[in-house]
Amino acid sequence: MLNNTFEILYLAFFIAGSVVRVIGVAKGKSWWRRKSEVVENRGTWTEKLFLFFSFLGMQVIPFIYIFSSWLDFADYGLPVGLSRILGWSGCLVFAAAIWVLWRSHIDLGRNFSPELKIRKEHKLVTHGIFRTIRHPMYSAHWLWALAQAMLLQNWIAGLSMLLAFWPLYAYRVTREEFMMCDRFGDDYRDYMGRTGRIFPRFRK
Ligand code: SAH
Repeated sequence: MLNNTFEILYLAFFIAGSVVRVIGVAKGKSWWRRKSEVVENRGTWTEKLFLFFSFLGMQVIPFIYIFSSWLDFADYGLPVGLSRILGWSGCLVFAAAIWVLWRSHIDLGRNFSPELKIRKEHKLVTHGIFRTIRHPMYSAHWLWALAQAMLLQNWIAGLSMLLAFWPLYAYRVTREEFMMCDRFGDDYRDYMGRTGRIFPRFRK
């Protein structure tokens, strides 16, 4: 039940992150982009299923925990001091997740799509946050999942996104890189050589 500071803070961060998401997706769906037809669609039913799992872990289970008492039996049960340290650190991690999500949407702009797709006017983005990380949006999701585990101190609701995002990430990231290599060839292969997948890489 909504009964502690960290659940309220989780909700505030969740709303802020969702606003960033909605604005980012809306930018991607602009009129200009609708005119740019999809030339490659590698979305599959498996990906849709994994997207649905992620949705449950990120947007459904946390709310069942916050607004009912059904999952309370699985609380971490930490001592107050430890719970506070974990919770406040979780706020920092959540803020970082939202910042990375925001930067990724700004830099990816109209090249964003929820499923694996390439459009006619697709441009390879290698600037901004993409200069050091190839998949900053996925990094943002991992940070979000970690923050959820720190703020919602419950074995089910806390860990649900970490567990539910895993299959989507594992299934998708390699296929995405294959798709980008097919489309952008050596430009993408070179880009892979100088960036990290989800952690920034600063070396040449
Ligand atoms: N994996 C990226 C983007 C996620 S959105 C991230 O985590 O930030 C998924 C879409 O982004 C894919 O369908 C692909 O078409 C596009 N994409 C991924 N990397 C890109 C890049 N460097 N430049 C342009 N488009 C990219």
